[in-house]
Amino acid sequence: MSLGKNTDGGAGRPAPGRVEDVRRGNLVRILASLAEPRTDPDVRPTRADLASRTGLTKASVSSLVAELVDAGLVAESGAARDGERGRPGVGLELSTCRGVVGMEINVDYISAGLLDLGGTLRIHRTLESGNRGKSPQSVMALLAGLVADVAAEASAAGIEILGGGLAVPGLVDTGSGTVSSAPNLKWHGVVLELHGLLPGAPQGTLLHNEANCAALAELWYGHGVDFQDYLFVSGEVGVGGGLVIGSRLFAGPRGQAGEVGHVVVDPSGPDCSCGGRGCLETFAGQEAIFAEAGIPDGTASARLEQLTALLEAGNAAAISAVSRAGHYLGIAAASTARLMDLSAVVLGGHFTRMGPWIAPAVVRSLADYAPGVVGPASVAISELGQSAALLGAAGSALRSVLAAPQGLRPGP
Ligand SMILES: [Zn+2]
Repeated sequence: MSLGKNTDGGAGRPAPGRVEDVRRGNLVRILASLAEPRTDPDVRPTRADLASRTGLTKASVSSLVAELVDAGLVAESGAARDGERGRPGVGLELSTCRGVVGMEINVDYISAGLLDLGGTLRIHRTLESGNRGKSPQSVMALLAGLVADVAAEASAAGIEILGGGLAVPGLVDTGSGTVSSAPNLKWHGVVLELHGLLPGAPQGTLLHNEANCAALAELWYGHGVDFQDYLFVSGEVGVGGGLVIGSRLFAGPRGQAGEVGHVVVDPSGPDCSCGGRGCLETFAGQEAIFAEAGIPDGTASARLEQLTALLEAGNAAAISAVSRAGHYLGIAAASTARLMDLSAVVLGGHFTRMGPWIAPAVVRSLADYAPGVVGPASVAISELGQSAALLGAAGSALRSVLAAPQGLRPGP
């Protein structure tokens, strides 16, 4: 690669700014290489491995790694072959003493968790909270308290927080930190005070759409190893979705693609929170399923427990409600798969709890409405559960840190 040659070969005489750009680019390549999944989790790459992976010279890798170790982003690990630290035989990994915070505001809970740079979720806290119609300021104050608890715990464990990501179930503008529309929270055009969440974190906090975050978490930590092109559908109070194409999230020009919950599956169906009617959400959102199954009012988590118990007991009304949701979900997925040339569907959020009962109905609809496009083996249930959106928000922050590391000394 030309980056390595420019740095190591000395061909030509690039301007000082260009030298610094190249050095930064090489630091990012080292970090990206260390972030790659390891075939054997116990075997960490050495400086020599990094040199062969990146095409940089060993001397160059040693200098870059020294800078990353000084900045606290990379740590040496494991015994050196000659028994001395710092020799080429020492394994390297992304530091577990630096981390990022993933946060989520949903309709009936808030959560926060700490992901270390190595990609392990070290702390995870969830608080039930009926947020629908609550003022954004009061929900953000509650979240700030939860995040402060996580930060205190991280600090006690010797982990420094570098940045964070917040997932919200609605259309958002990441640049300005604005929730354009979150119908299930009844928030519209709300600018969130994100800088108050992680005071002192160099990368700050970025706002994301919850379903996009969950789709990314699936890509990075879930079924992304099995499928390259899929529709991720997340059942919550609303129904969110994300499109993964070529192992990348396709968020659309305004970050609003993949809103499968508001794809119309019955033009004469019920009114929807988005202002339209007959959307998938009116059949597969929590309210619709609970009402159809005859589950009385209560907290969402209690009602979900009740539904799961009824499904396990073979209750006909519960099974029929979930099958109906799956039928319509399959219709929306069939159209989406045709439109976007997708070959798989991953079900997340509350659909994971209904997996054995909802998946067959989804498979049937896909076979009826888009035969041969998404086979039964390509309908998968997420294993990330309720932490998916938080993991995706944290994973995005982690990638920002690795793509633009801050706090590094300027190059020579
Ligand atoms: Zn709708």
